[in-house]
Amino acid sequence: RIGVMTIQSYEKNYFTIHRIEAVKAYASYAAIAINHAIKSRRLIDEVEKRKYLQAQLESSNEQLSYLSEHDALTGLPNKRKFDLVMSQSWERAVIRKESLAVVIFDIDFFKQYNDYYGHMEGDRCLYMIGNTIKKTGGHDFFLTRYGGDEFVIIFSGQASHIVYEKCEAIRRVVEEKAIPHQKSFIKPIVTITMGVYITIPSEDDSIQDCISEADHALYKAKEKGRNCVEMSVGLSSKEAENEI
Ligand code: GH3
Ligand code: MG
Repeated sequence: RIGVMTIQSYEKNYFTIHRIEAVKAYASYAAIAINHAIKSRRLIDEVEKRKYLQAQLESSNEQLSYLSEHDALTGLPNKRKFDLVMSQSWERAVIRKESLAVVIFDIDFFKQYNDYYGHMEGDRCLYMIGNTIKKTGGHDFFLTRYGGDEFVIIFSGQASHIVYEKCEAIRRVVEEKAIPHQKSFIKPIVTITMGVYITIPSEDDSIQDCISEADHALYKAKEKGRNCVEMSVGLSSKEAENEI
């Protein structure tokens, strides 16, 4: 039962059996129409509710995906995102036969910084370094916080001397920031050391070897005295070397 319908007449004995039956029939049609309207209203409400839930789900998924690919401290992309971007950049470089440079850099004597200024200041320092360098980045520059005090940059399709100059510029930007570091053994300010490996990758090369080469360059730069850029070019043929 969905409602009550009343019909009155001023005429006496107006509602004969025939008329009552006719009214009953109209009432049934009205009931069917009202029922359909109620059902479609419910359906519309349900569709709208589902659309709203779907939008909420999509927004939660976007947030989750952002959080899983970004570092909470610096807001920069994390190692997980780096792995993804690196393999895409690698594939593109192989297909286009263009250069790919991996730059690994870390803060000099950061352990001493933490010990002297405290972990909270250490965190602030990581944030400042990461975000200062982020502002210097341009086209084909991808910066990640790789872990600890280590950051990684990918440069795609750029000549080796350009990549070197850009790394030098980044090193200087950090120096010019002049964040005090009383316990550094090289300068009383925060400095970074950078290891670069640039190559035109082929299908036979591996990403892991490329990262290890950059790591090795960083190690050499640390050995040389820190606060510098060490670059290694991964090419045997002269023509290819001229290309990048
Ligand atoms: P080096 O010049 O050889 O790089 O010396 P270092 O003291 O920087 O040595 P290393 O890079 O091995 O030390 C990294 C330090 O970074 C160790 C750890 O205390 C600190 N660290 C790593 N992650 C964090 C972090 O999230 N916050 C803070 N405040 N410190 C961190
Ligand atoms: Mg360090």
